[in-house]
Amino acid sequence: MQNFELLQATGIRDICIVSYQLHDDARVQELKDVLQKNGFRVRMAGNMDGLMRRYVTYKLSERITNCQRIKRRIRYSLFSAGRMLQGRSRNTLYLLIDQLKTGDGWLHEGVQIQLEKKHLSDRLFFYDVKSDRIMKFEKPVLGYLEFDVSGHCNLRCKGCSHYSNLVKEPVWGNLDRFREHLSRLREVFDHIEVFRLVGGEPFLNPDVGQFAAAVREAFPDATLYVVSNGLLIPHVKGEILDAIRESKAVVYISYYPPTVKMAEKIKERLDEYKVPYTFSKPIRYFQYEVGETAGNGTSNHRHCSFISCHILSDDGRLCLCDPPMVYQKNMSRLNVKREVSEDCWTDLYSVKDGYELLRQLHRQIPFCKYCLTRKKIMFPWQGSYPQELTDDEMGVHRRKKK
Ligand code: SF4
Ligand code: SF4
Repeated sequence: MQNFELLQATGIRDICIVSYQLHDDARVQELKDVLQKNGFRVRMAGNMDGLMRRYVTYKLSERITNCQRIKRRIRYSLFSAGRMLQGRSRNTLYLLIDQLKTGDGWLHEGVQIQLEKKHLSDRLFFYDVKSDRIMKFEKPVLGYLEFDVSGHCNLRCKGCSHYSNLVKEPVWGNLDRFREHLSRLREVFDHIEVFRLVGGEPFLNPDVGQFAAAVREAFPDATLYVVSNGLLIPHVKGEILDAIRESKAVVYISYYPPTVKMAEKIKERLDEYKVPYTFSKPIRYFQYEVGETAGNGTSNHRHCSFISCHILSDDGRLCLCDPPMVYQKNMSRLNVKREVSEDCWTDLYSVKDGYELLRQLHRQIPFCKYCLTRKKIMFPWQGSYPQELTDDEMGVHRRKKK
């Protein structure tokens, strides 16, 4: 590790490592050993072992997370670590392994909130696995944020979670306002781990490259994605791809049946402009996310996989997840009318600091009662490019029935 001085300068010798590392135990152990060799007393908290590890790995891979159970685990880990270390020293430093660049940053946010509540946030340090450095931030870190660059889409999938299939006219995010919101976010957060520019289809917005550049300028360390169905990429202007490459953004391509047909052309174009990209798994099924009738909001929230998918609106509101925000935005286009409470989101400009914003983002919201987190309604993907592909063409390998 390169910079012990930061920890040593505090004069505190007790360290509690808060790690949710799922795959690289060796690295955490190495960190622990190095700290111990340098005279620190180390206690692990939040490392997941045995059943818990298997459970969380599975849930994260499915993007289904039992929020309450993990929250309890975080609280318990911090409590037990704090109590054990208290016997030896009045003070403890908390070292949070900063490597959750997966979009599941709510674990990360949860730890920050816990420490802030106990007035311990000044003793929170981060260890960045990539650069092998200790960091200290004055402000909290936001795990994930997305922003709709375009409201409309060229594919119009049935059941689109952002209702882009219903948007007939162009609806674009406002670049100037977006820049203002970014500078406000910069005021309240030290950085954002994962930032995704989504839609609709982002490449329908001619300014998509500038949106990416704006994020990169505001948050130089964020993992930045432009999420696309890929169909426009072979035709998009070279200068847009140049801007995306210069912003160090990754184009994340959702692998719908029409995208599969064009995959080679998409790859060729992105390779030509040296733009990094990644394809999702083949998408053959969709699901409705919002039900017609209200259910049990507490249970829905507890079993929800979207609790870390925070979204920023064009007018500067932040919401825990996208369903209430996109529903409210498209209310005039929908037949089923539901009440959407203003309590579902927080005005970015009304909070005192990033911790207040994090706390707002981590609570159950009134819209939870409408979500179908437990009763999924699945159906085969259907878009305005109705082409049937075989499983082989989609790269889906199904187990043969005996
Ligand atoms: S491609 Fe994505 S944004 Fe476009 S309609 Fe389909 S699901 Fe919605
Ligand atoms: S509103 Fe729906 S998607 Fe959002 S956290 Fe609640 S249950 Fe999950």
